[in-house]
Amino acid sequence: MSKIIIIGCGIVGATIAYELSLIPQLKITVIEKDSLACGSTGAALGVMMAVISGKTKGRTWRLREASLKRYQSLIPELEAKTGITIPVNDDGIIKLLFAEDKLDKWQKLAQTRSQQGWNLEILTLGQLQQRCPGVAMENLIGAVYSPEDRQVNPQILTKALVAAAQENGVEFQFQTDCQIPAVAVDSALDSSSGSQTCRQIETNGAKLDCDQVIIAAGLGSAPLTESLAAAVDIRPVLGQALRLQLEQDLGLDSFQPVITGNDILFVPLGDRQYWLGATVEFPDEDGKVVAQPDLLTKFKQEAETFYPAIANAKILASWQGKRPRPFGQAAPVIGKLDGFENVWLATAHYRNGVLLAPGTAEEIKKLMGFA
Ligand SMILES: Cc1cc2nc3c(=O)[nH]c(=O)nc-3n(C[C@H](O)[C@H](O)[C@H](O)COP(=O)(O)OP(=O)(O)OC[C@H]3O[C@@H](n4cnc5c(N)ncnc54)[C@H](O)[C@@H]3O)c2cc1C
Repeated sequence: MSKIIIIGCGIVGATIAYELSLIPQLKITVIEKDSLACGSTGAALGVMMAVISGKTKGRTWRLREASLKRYQSLIPELEAKTGITIPVNDDGIIKLLFAEDKLDKWQKLAQTRSQQGWNLEILTLGQLQQRCPGVAMENLIGAVYSPEDRQVNPQILTKALVAAAQENGVEFQFQTDCQIPAVAVDSALDSSSGSQTCRQIETNGAKLDCDQVIIAAGLGSAPLTESLAAAVDIRPVLGQALRLQLEQDLGLDSFQPVITGNDILFVPLGDRQYWLGATVEFPDEDGKVVAQPDLLTKFKQEAETFYPAIANAKILASWQGKRPRPFGQAAPVIGKLDGFENVWLATAHYRNGVLLAPGTAEEIKKLMGFA
């Protein structure tokens, strides 16, 4: 049996664990220093912008499309296996278009999507008003509607992935910090590839043998790669978000899509509650970032310009999280760690880790020779 260790139990590590658990003859252990979905995944809004993303080719589209397709079967599969209901919004995503947006660019994208087998509709102001009566139409020129993009509760999804993987025999070690000590690396270079092999990892003092290691530790991936002298630069980009209760429902009962405008997401949760997020706050030169309360206030004020009812909403909760953003290369980072034969990276998904988790798992499976 091949022994695989996955470091990190956010959405990415949990999805890889579940997808690999469907392959016989693998002994999979997931090591998580805290609890499941406690990192970036714990703060995420779960909006999956694939068809509406503007990406039409190359790796970025391939990963998005693969993820969107896999989610169609993955969610019912997990629900049936675990009995956990995963909250999903299937009403699609509406992107508001402002005067500075180029309508012809969106019309062209709608054509491309149609050729690719996906649906994207351009809405006039009248159609938008009919479907989303709570949106203020001033400053808008219309909207784009993507019925096949979705939103999912990332924390419950991760819980379901873990439960399903456990049922398939995956072992999870929570509250277990993981290090890769230099002594565990087989320094005798493989003569054909010139690569090293990681034979063992260390967890809270214990040592675990491994044939393959997958680093899916989000921001924690950077120190792990540093310890192997193959540092991958990943920096935090902070996001603040709010849970709001509105005085009255904004839209139609029968149609509650996610609404996005000017990089602001408005996610309906039912019972007049919504998530509003998220700010994008970059770190200083030392890689440190601290939440700025005034940025959240400004963010909310901007959202009020196209969703006026937010002004009187009750704030039920606010939170923040840090997105793992790669520095000097595109997100996400998926592939073999430089100089290693058996260490894989599935990390640095920045703003789209929930969306891209199934595509990432598929890519990792292929790269490891399991698909
Ligand atoms: C406010 C906010 C809103 C967002 N909204 C969306 C959205 O709408 N849609 C979307 O697709 N994405 C969104 N994202 C981005 C998304 O959250 C991330 O891309 C995704 O969660 C990354 O998942 P991950 O599993 O790689 O990392 P994480 O969720 O950070 O998981 C990594 C795990 O590794 C563990 N770990 C780290 N180091 C070690 C170690 N040495 N040993 C053991 N365990 C370790 C951590 O404890 C953590 O649990 C949002 C992010 C934020 C902050």
